[in-house]
Amino acid sequence: MPATPRPAPVSARLQGATGPWELVIGLEVHAQVASNAKLFSGASTGFGAPPNSHVSLVDAAMPGMLPVINKECVAQAIRTGLGLKAQINLMSTFDRKNYFYPDLPQGYQISQFKQPVVGEGVVVLDMADGEIEVGIERLHLEQDAGKSLHDQHPDYSYVDLNRSGVALMEIVSKPDMRSAEEAKAYVTKLRTILRYLGTCDGDMEKGNLRADVNVSVRRPGEPFGTRCEIKNVNSIRFIGQAIEAEARRQIDIKEDGGAIVQETRLYDPNKGETRSMRSKEEAHDYRYFPDPDLLPLEFTQSYVDGLAKGLPELPDAKRARFIKDGLSPYDASVLVAEKANADFFELVAKDRDGKMSANWVINELFGRLNKEGLDVGASPMSAKQLGGIIDLIASGSISGKIAKDLFEIVWTEGGDPARLVEERGLKQVTDLGAIEKAVDDIIAANPDKVEQVKLKPTALGWFVGAVMKSTGGKANPAAVNEILKKKLGIV
Ligand code: ADP
Ligand code: MG
Repeated sequence: MPATPRPAPVSARLQGATGPWELVIGLEVHAQVASNAKLFSGASTGFGAPPNSHVSLVDAAMPGMLPVINKECVAQAIRTGLGLKAQINLMSTFDRKNYFYPDLPQGYQISQFKQPVVGEGVVVLDMADGEIEVGIERLHLEQDAGKSLHDQHPDYSYVDLNRSGVALMEIVSKPDMRSAEEAKAYVTKLRTILRYLGTCDGDMEKGNLRADVNVSVRRPGEPFGTRCEIKNVNSIRFIGQAIEAEARRQIDIKEDGGAIVQETRLYDPNKGETRSMRSKEEAHDYRYFPDPDLLPLEFTQSYVDGLAKGLPELPDAKRARFIKDGLSPYDASVLVAEKANADFFELVAKDRDGKMSANWVINELFGRLNKEGLDVGASPMSAKQLGGIIDLIASGSISGKIAKDLFEIVWTEGGDPARLVEERGLKQVTDLGAIEKAVDDIIAANPDKVEQVKLKPTALGWFVGAVMKSTGGKANPAAVNEILKKKLGIV
């Protein structure tokens, strides 16, 4: 599916001394498949286990051991492909990618080269100035390698094979992104989709999602320039920084009349710059060939259809539904970004006003969670409690101001909102007699202000504030307004 053509947003820092430059970015994301067992062995994928405790004879590449495909990993790759609206290939093959490294005991990585399990798809990004489509080139399954540990001992390196053989999905985008912002939005969206699908936990800190970032620069409208690939960037913030640093480096070279050399680079977050890892001449020749130990991967369309039926509602569909139910596109985007957030909102909004629920969930609850560094799973306030507060506002039992106080009480002390309102006398005064009395008292005590408001009706606000204050914020503001106007003779 081709990406929508669009004018490139060229940020100020890309203006260049001799005219504007445009960034071109394509990402190769490695996502660890959520699965209890590895891609070709039954060993556990558990994180944080003692070194070399999750290693089967297959993962250690003992002679004569044969890989056996883990069907759940294949199903996860297909689910992901479906979530990316991609073509699912009913027949795909495994190849050996040959190289030597101490953490790769087989001497090759089993990957999919010529015929990947998933073909072209698309990821839609909601950017500030509209939607953008980023094309997916392919998704293939491959094994992860082990881990070399160089800093445990001054004279030795160690190898931990726990990761060896863990299933990865490599998701390759087309070179459709034009700024660091778009690349960050792409990885964020991709991670959201994977989490909704339950096919990868997206935990970048554990290395379960990492990106190789391809960057080139060109004059707008010209063909693509030579790219450099920045390997293994493991946070969204660093992806943005690496792209900007690399783009500036390439622009400087080109503005000085130089040419970009295609190479693999690394991003150093401490220095904020990329440095060369290996040039194209030093690039590996992996001598890919079909793995003779594995039959082609084949399944039927009805198998794929069955998996499609089991997919959850994905973020784009959820967002569209929220907007249809009356939420603003912005609120809908905020809510669907994390499935747990959307689920919490849906519990609150059930049988309640959607817009009002969204306001309270986003502005009050998420705002507060953010401030305390908590995610919604750790919220001290349940959806039921927040819903209870909203019900009290909707029924006129409490004013908006009291609702904020009540939010604070429920947040810090817990408890049932309706009961708290009773116990602490927070109920809104809708008794017109009581409000009238409060209004009379304020008018009687402030003859000078009464003179002012007759000349300048906008001074009414002062009276409203004074009455609200004298009733402890519990008077119904609409009633206060109306009674004041009547008594002061303002129309
Ligand atoms: P290779 O076959 O060398 O791996 P690919 O064509 O598969 O190269 O591209 C690898 C990644 O690089 C893809 O994500 C793609 O979008 C990206 N890419 C390709 N050409 C460019 C370019 N000129 N500038 C930036 N990224 C690019
Ligand atoms: Mg490639």
